[in-house]
Amino acid sequence: MTNQFLPIRKAEIGEGTIIRRALPQKGLRRIGAWCFLDHAGPVQFSDKGLDVAPHPHVGLQTFTWMLEGELLHRDSLGFEQLIKPKQVNLMTAGHGIAHSETTPDGVQVLHSAQLWIALPKQQKDVAPHFEHYPDLPEQQINGVNYIVLMGDYLGMSSPVPSYSPLVAVDIQTEQTQDLVLDLRPDFEYGVLLLAGQVTLDGQRLDVEQLFYCTAGATELRIQLQAGSRLLFLGGEPYTDELAVWWNFVCHDQAELEQAYADWLNHSERFGVVVGYEGDRLEAPVLSGQVRFS
Ligand code: MN
Repeated sequence: MTNQFLPIRKAEIGEGTIIRRALPQKGLRRIGAWCFLDHAGPVQFSDKGLDVAPHPHVGLQTFTWMLEGELLHRDSLGFEQLIKPKQVNLMTAGHGIAHSETTPDGVQVLHSAQLWIALPKQQKDVAPHFEHYPDLPEQQINGVNYIVLMGDYLGMSSPVPSYSPLVAVDIQTEQTQDLVLDLRPDFEYGVLLLAGQVTLDGQRLDVEQLFYCTAGATELRIQLQAGSRLLFLGGEPYTDELAVWWNFVCHDQAELEQAYADWLNHSERFGVVVGYEGDRLEAPVLSGQVRFS
């Protein structure tokens, strides 16, 4: 596989909030252990905002990066955490957790990215936990602002821990800039446009596309127009087979069927999200063999 411009499809989360889902997709299951990528907004809510009712997760971490607006996270461990711009929420589902995500009253804008990180097979059943990271390392170089969300980049280290080698950097510029991003040849990479306009490999990347770069490269040249912002992601290729089915990341069919049955049967495995007003989300019907790749 060489460098590619991949399409992003639209999907709905909560009640009527349309987002752009960059991962997983037919042509690309993941980038390193990043196995899911939703770009929400920027959207202005006329009435109430995002409302994602309690739902379960297993085998993954949810990683939320806030650009504009605020979200309230509640989970079955009892964590209730407001996330604001330039902050990260990291929820490790491991063996099982349930959570809800809602726009607080009075907040009418949302622009965020939510990623899932597939846990390594050896750690897929770790005990669930949740952390909030209000301060990420940030630096301006030649008019370009870099925030290191995960891993190490440009001599900065994110405080967000990971179970596998990963990187994520928010890159923003007020003026037109030509950039050369250093790459680790053992990582594969992706670029998601958050705002503005950029050119990669001589081709324009728009907000409906994900750029993917295979492992082996040592640099990536990007031209950023004034006012551009992008999310730069990378990781060591994740080679174990898995399936992302609904909100579960599983390594075989039996594991998936168990997680599905446990949610259906209100098992203690997922607990209860206290404080959310309304019903939980029910899983779609799981029928037949799911593809693991
Ligand atoms: Mn979730």
